[in-house]
Amino acid sequence: MIPTAHISTPEAVERAEARTAHNYHPLPVVIEHAEGAWMTDVEGRRYLDLLAGYSALNFGHSNPRLVEVAREQLGRLTLTSRAFIHDKFAEFCAGLGDLCGKDLVLPMNTGAEAVETAIKVSRKWGYEVKGVAADRARIIVAAGNFHGRTTTIVGFSDDPDARDGFGPFTPGFDMVEYGDLAALEAAITPDTVAVLIEPIQGEGGVIIPPEGYLRGVREACTRHGVLFVADEIQAGLGRTGRTFACDYEGVVPDLYVLGKALGGGIVPVSAVVGDRDVLGVLKPGQHGSTFGGNPLACAVGAEVVAMLADGEPQARAAELGALLSERLHALQGHGVVGVRVRGLWAGVDIDPAIGTGREICERLMARGVLAKDTHGSTIRLAPPLTISAEDLSWGLDQLEAVLSDRG
Ligand code: PLP
Repeated sequence: MIPTAHISTPEAVERAEARTAHNYHPLPVVIEHAEGAWMTDVEGRRYLDLLAGYSALNFGHSNPRLVEVAREQLGRLTLTSRAFIHDKFAEFCAGLGDLCGKDLVLPMNTGAEAVETAIKVSRKWGYEVKGVAADRARIIVAAGNFHGRTTTIVGFSDDPDARDGFGPFTPGFDMVEYGDLAALEAAITPDTVAVLIEPIQGEGGVIIPPEGYLRGVREACTRHGVLFVADEIQAGLGRTGRTFACDYEGVVPDLYVLGKALGGGIVPVSAVVGDRDVLGVLKPGQHGSTFGGNPLACAVGAEVVAMLADGEPQARAAELGALLSERLHALQGHGVVGVRVRGLWAGVDIDPAIGTGREICERLMARGVLAKDTHGSTIRLAPPLTISAEDLSWGLDQLEAVLSDRG
């Protein structure tokens, strides 16, 4: 093994880039260590993390409570496969089911797998419960969506980068404008089995739908006998100041699709959560995953659920979110042309005259702040919910400096 501590950043970047498929365009920084909201690179420079692993690190890097649980579990039992039952399974499923107010949990690993699972469940429910004729089931999705990278999922994306060159695609999806209730209702047919949407579009640039949209989707789904499937993989689990982004409109979907923060930034853990009349359509042999619901994942996931159950992370996100919102709105007209904030999560549209999102992120990096652009001129800010108010303020000072050309 090569001891990275003695490698300069350019060498370490070159080494990493030389032997990887270029399916990402990372900032030229090589992280060696992280704790809380701070990361340290191979040359000992510290950076404030304002991305938090796209919300997979809601509880911060190396969260002591989660690391302790993982360590204990690592020394005891890591994998049984679902061929056998392990002693952490019930705790995780019951805890997550209770957090969601639902009967059943189907654990998987990555977000995309959980979305695929929700699609399969919706179709099967459509055939067996709703009575849709074989192979005719349709699912409504939203323009600007991001649900993952499998061939089925990119097939219903409208982002050319995600989609072009990967066809032919799975049929059975209808796209409508995000936030347009009338369009959604008009797209529902007797063969529609589900509406699959993000309650806030994360990759799309933290797009918050108009007030009442989620309630309207819930009502339309109920009226037409269609499942409401909420992809809360990025928006859920405390990020917005509530347990779920759907909570803002007092809305409960038929299926919650969860991932990212569920694994505490330690292991990939995802899940589909729903009631027995929906998730109960799956029978043995019809769906599964070797690693889904493994003991390590369940131990960490159960601790994440316990942390969320006492409401502290959500309260922190709401409190710090107010600071984030105030500071970002003050930048409107000073290099910022648009701001959308919900909890500790923001999409910031940078004036293109100042630079691309990527250039702003590079300038932030030079000042010790790591953030990520999305869609050209938008920067997404999603610090760990454990960040201190002082550190958050300092990070926003750096953004202000970069925008006012003091960067
Ligand atoms: N759904 C949403 C809303 C996401 O933001 C993401 C990832 O960014 C996914 C699904 C896919 O998750 P994963 O990358 O774990 O497959």
